[in-house]
Amino acid sequence: MIKINENRLLQDLSELGRIGATADGGVNRPALTLADIEARAWYQRAIAEAGLSYAIDGAGNQSAILYSDPPSPKRILAGSHLDSVPEGGRYDGALGVLAALEALRVMRENSLKPSITLEAVNFTDEEGAIMGLLGSRALCGQLSAEDFGRSKLEAAALNRRLSAVGISQETMLAARRDDALAWVELHIEQGGRLESSGIDIGVVDAIVGIRSLHVRLSGEAAHAGTKPMSQRRDALWGASQFILRARQWVMDRHSPGVCNVGMIDAKPGAFNIVPAQVDFALEFRHGSEAALDAMQADLVALLEECAAEFDLGVEYEATPPAHPAQMSESVMNAIESAADRLGLSHQRMLSFAGHDTQNMARIAAAAMYFVPSVNGVSHNPGECTSAADCVNGANLMLHTLLELLKTLD
Ligand SMILES: [Zn+2]
Repeated sequence: MIKINENRLLQDLSELGRIGATADGGVNRPALTLADIEARAWYQRAIAEAGLSYAIDGAGNQSAILYSDPPSPKRILAGSHLDSVPEGGRYDGALGVLAALEALRVMRENSLKPSITLEAVNFTDEEGAIMGLLGSRALCGQLSAEDFGRSKLEAAALNRRLSAVGISQETMLAARRDDALAWVELHIEQGGRLESSGIDIGVVDAIVGIRSLHVRLSGEAAHAGTKPMSQRRDALWGASQFILRARQWVMDRHSPGVCNVGMIDAKPGAFNIVPAQVDFALEFRHGSEAALDAMQADLVALLEECAAEFDLGVEYEATPPAHPAQMSESVMNAIESAADRLGLSHQRMLSFAGHDTQNMARIAAAAMYFVPSVNGVSHNPGECTSAADCVNGANLMLHTLLELLKTLD
């Protein structure tokens, strides 16, 4: 059975890990900084050395290309991103790009002519130095001129960074492509579910949607000594009751969905005054709109119940949601068939973090899979995936692409 070149993959990972390396073993490569530009130059060189074709689009997305003969009008894309969060780890994104490159390299070495043109892509700014999932958003036609107004960089700095790699806001807005037939991404899990269950591969069946509500509970300020406990309309009691019961409801009724209250403000805010008003931010995530609808209905009912229990008024306002992205059944099947062939155990799971794949799912049959992260650590210099799991992930990329070539041809 054809396999990737393990030593070369691990060598690539360690070479790339030296670009933007930090003293604690991580990397600092936010998009289009000097370190990221150096990593991009390294990728371009590696593509040339492999004898693959190179292309860069208007969004700065870089591709290694293995052409079919004759070149097919549609293409199968794979990859991830080489940028990192500030003070991030060496595997997030990098492993996915290198695995896709290695898969194409091995096919070429084995004179394996694909029936559909293949690309190994490095997406620009997945991590949000500028705006997050930027390169894939541009490629999928989801980027508008107004989006640049919400960039984390002011216009002059943004334009300087873009021009450093030969692109501009105009070229980004024109980077939409219509030739993607399928997309597959390998990524580290960024959590500990695979490690704790001893499973090799997590096949992502959906990337979660995120909804959030600003909640206000209103009671009555009162003397913290003289007001009888039984007569208090304490807004913080209501909020506390809700927060702990919501935890239990979500675990009992909406698993594997998650909820969080990450911000809370009690007024007037003094030792000796019963809290009259509490504002808090409630966020919850799940894999489908139906699951999110059910969660929201339950959480709102609970909110009203807790407010009534303490005689409080309740108001809430939703913020714009992030919609869940369903993965393609045919691409998930290709990943699973390939994993079976390689003897890798696998299970389906949700991705609770955002990825370029959620954009690609809008324009192509798309799916992604995870390999285990040691201790579930991620976005941290201590991030680590074992050499064996990196190799498993890359072999699975090679065989998933072969499977896709068979099924999509
Ligand atoms: Zn990533």
